[in-house]
Amino acid sequence: MTGIEQRRILNTAIPGPRSAALQARKNAAVSAGVSTGLPVYVERAGGGILVDVDGNQLIDFGSGIAVTTVGNAAPRVVERVRAQAADFTHTCFMITPYAEYVEVAEALAELTPGDHEKRSALFNSGAEAVENAVKIARSATGRQAVVAFEHAYHGRTNLTMSLTAKNMPYKHRFGPFAGEIYRVPMAYPYRWPTGPDDCAEEAFAQFASQVHTQVGEENTAAVIIEPIQGEGGFVVPPDGFLTRVADWCRDNGVLLIADEIQTGFCRTGDWFACDHEGVVPDLITTAKGIAGGLPLAAVTGRAEIMDAVHPGGLGGTYGGNPVACAAALGAIETMKAEDLPRRARAVEALFMPRLRDLAAKYPQVGDVRGRGAMLAIELVSDPAAKTPDPALTAAVNKACHAEGLVTLTAGTYGNVLRFLPPLSSPDHLLTEGLDILEGAFAASV
Ligand SMILES: *Cc1c(COP(=O)(O)O)cnc(C)c1O
Repeated sequence: MTGIEQRRILNTAIPGPRSAALQARKNAAVSAGVSTGLPVYVERAGGGILVDVDGNQLIDFGSGIAVTTVGNAAPRVVERVRAQAADFTHTCFMITPYAEYVEVAEALAELTPGDHEKRSALFNSGAEAVENAVKIARSATGRQAVVAFEHAYHGRTNLTMSLTAKNMPYKHRFGPFAGEIYRVPMAYPYRWPTGPDDCAEEAFAQFASQVHTQVGEENTAAVIIEPIQGEGGFVVPPDGFLTRVADWCRDNGVLLIADEIQTGFCRTGDWFACDHEGVVPDLITTAKGIAGGLPLAAVTGRAEIMDAVHPGGLGGTYGGNPVACAAALGAIETMKAEDLPRRARAVEALFMPRLRDLAAKYPQVGDVRGRGAMLAIELVSDPAAKTPDPALTAAVNKACHAEGLVTLTAGTYGNVLRFLPPLSSPDHLLTEGLDILEGAFAASV
């Protein structure tokens, strides 16, 4: 773990003077459209700690948005990346291939849900994987419509921005958007109008009815869903919802695309979030946690669907870059060797009682939810009306940052605090982070 002492250290105010100087240079050199949530400039990271240029050591509850699941600069990742970079850095898999790409595809076939025959294609980013999943689904079915959910997040390219639900900041002034995308209600238990009990059944009924009346099953290529929604606020559909949608897809010849870019690779306490209910998607998109911080993404799916695309129809200059593939092999080896699904469940067991205590103490905590090491609280100003409280959320977030705890917000209404610690984080840092969170509440409400 790179020898970083697993201890929070505050040397300066957060951000410190060196970070502030770099931020001034950033503002003069980097587009204002690329903003920074916590402008401390990182120099080293490992375990559960980020070390900044002022010598502060921050506790990481973000993992760079669920990416460094195995830890930052994880030893097996670093070792393989070093060796691969020394051997060769690029050939383009579409020209002269290499074994590492094939090995990642084999690992994906082994680890993703379902024991059917599978194929994969590798890309650079999550958005690129989602784009390609839609291309593949349209090609394989000969249909065009794609159904996406409220609160969905699928990326920032034109097609994936069109699949994404939230206007600000993702879509605002960036239209026109891609066609043949249809949005349906999400099973969001906390905000379901009739309450959580009938949420799965009613949300599914609305989904099926809206697709039938507004799109037509026979026109629908795919339904794309995050099994636990990420940017939309860690919305966990009630058990039964995903299964119903999967059954409906199978009955109607519609492909189910599980976007597991945020939930995948041990984050939720299983290898993939679909495993929780035994849902087997036709196509699954992965990225973020797959390669311990290097840019890599994949579409994995049923062999007959993935092979329906004409030769040369999929690819890209860098997709499945050998250094990124080596990183993925190191990350996957780490997940297996350290049984990280189990570690994610232990993180849930450590967090959940603390978050529930917080909810018992502060009525502003309207909901506590998530699974594994993907957990969140939703903040409201009026618990009865469930009025979103983005101001309090921002205040708590900021108070955590000031104390050297890296937290992230999320949610359609900007009122969700989400927790995505690296699974390499020792318990004492998780506990200390939760203490800071509690203090931030006391100071902000
Ligand atoms: C992050 C994310 C994406 C987009 O991935 P990028 O690598 O940022 O393009 C797509 N879907 C989900 C669920 C995500 O969390």
